[in-house]
Amino acid sequence: MKKSISEIFDTDRFKKEGHKLVDLLANYLDQAKSGGEMPVLNWKDPDKQVEYWKNYVVDPDDIASYFSDVLNNSIHLHHPKYMGHQLSPPAPVSALADFLGAVLNNGMVGYEMGPVSTAIERLVIQCFTEALGYDSEGDGFLTSGGTLGNLTALLTARKVKVDSNIWEEGSSGEKLAVMVSSEAHYCIDRAARIMGLGSDGILLIETNEDFQMKTELLELIFQEATEKGLKVFSIIGSACSTATGSYDNLEAIAEFAAKRDLWFHVDGAHGAPVIFSGKYKQLVSGIHLADSVVIDCHKMLMTPTLTTALLYKRSEQSYKTFQQDAHYLWQQEEDPEWFNYGKRTFECTKLMMSLKFFTLMKVYGLDVLGENVTALYDLAKTFATLIKQRNHFELAIEPQSNIVCFRLMNNQLSDLENNEINARVRKAILVEGEFYIVQTTLRGKIFLRTTLMNPFTTPEHLVELLDKIEGYIEKM
Ligand SMILES: *Cc1c(COP(=O)(O)O)cnc(C)c1O
Repeated sequence: MKKSISEIFDTDRFKKEGHKLVDLLANYLDQAKSGGEMPVLNWKDPDKQVEYWKNYVVDPDDIASYFSDVLNNSIHLHHPKYMGHQLSPPAPVSALADFLGAVLNNGMVGYEMGPVSTAIERLVIQCFTEALGYDSEGDGFLTSGGTLGNLTALLTARKVKVDSNIWEEGSSGEKLAVMVSSEAHYCIDRAARIMGLGSDGILLIETNEDFQMKTELLELIFQEATEKGLKVFSIIGSACSTATGSYDNLEAIAEFAAKRDLWFHVDGAHGAPVIFSGKYKQLVSGIHLADSVVIDCHKMLMTPTLTTALLYKRSEQSYKTFQQDAHYLWQQEEDPEWFNYGKRTFECTKLMMSLKFFTLMKVYGLDVLGENVTALYDLAKTFATLIKQRNHFELAIEPQSNIVCFRLMNNQLSDLENNEINARVRKAILVEGEFYIVQTTLRGKIFLRTTLMNPFTTPEHLVELLDKIEGYIEKM
């Protein structure tokens, strides 16, 4: 049936379906939060999922049923037994702000295309630069994800620290390099390769037994690289790393960066929100010395995806990355024009992401966000204690964040056999759907990996998880 355009914009239907959707979501959130009978994930093979939606019929007079089926087939982040990847269960009020932004669709490339969200973005950024400990020179913007934020920061680093003008003239053949720990998120590696650094341009620093960068190696590796003709322009600290949630020693890295005149970037996508936690902010001491910092609000700050802050210690440097003419958008290329964020972001059109965080911050305040981080980090310590009390388990490291890696461990079996068992257990848990956890490989050993993202998760849920895993031992 062909729908006329006026039907698409019919506001009666919008009102009716909108109210139904909010009711549906409220019920869903109640159910998800309570854990109850609802599985955290209703697992289907990817091809089966495609098949399901391919044959799906949406009844135009019952859109709510379709929305309901979307809910039922999705993974439930508000479920207390969701403890896999590092995404927040978003705050409902923040999701409402997202909805508002979707209807308004202000594109953000320049002030005129998003007057409110542009102004609000400036205030959100100020809240971050203050919490980081930057002085009044601190600045930045919001962007679409930590991956893009890290790439953008490294592009700024190259513009500021490398003499040849690659942006205008292309590569001069000079071999550029960055230094980063072997535990850094894979997007750093990608960013470096996108920038043409190649494998040789990614100087991986080994990590210690807690998976933190061995900063005592920095000088040696820098000198070796320089002797080979590489021009190192940046060093990246992880706060924290993704697999084990380990925090690099930012003070030591800052000192080295200053000595060698390198751009110091902190990938704080997951763990930098500890700046709001009185108890844990010492994990990032030295972060105010970084030239740039990435923080994902959609990880520890209860904001819907994607909402990432890229912060700069010195405002003027944030304008250098993409300096180019775009006369149809703005007349004065040289003028910083803070309010035309498109000058500084990778994106042209951008979501009104500032609304999501600002709403949360205005309605509930920043303290409660910090308290959430504190509670999740505390819970991870409790979980580690529970794991250590049981004979069948091995803990990878004492957790520094809310990421806990552990494995079933049988001394009678080989590494390979233990790996296979843990991989099978993780797969069985996925398919069964009561819990959601992931896995990671650390120095050749497969570990079960949990990230405690959810304020509804209690120690009792963690005991249930360990019981369940022990229950699999005989069956594997
Ligand atoms: C999640 C994560 C990223 C990637 O961020 P996205 O927002 O998923 O693009 C980068 N670095 C670290 C340390 C992360 O935890």
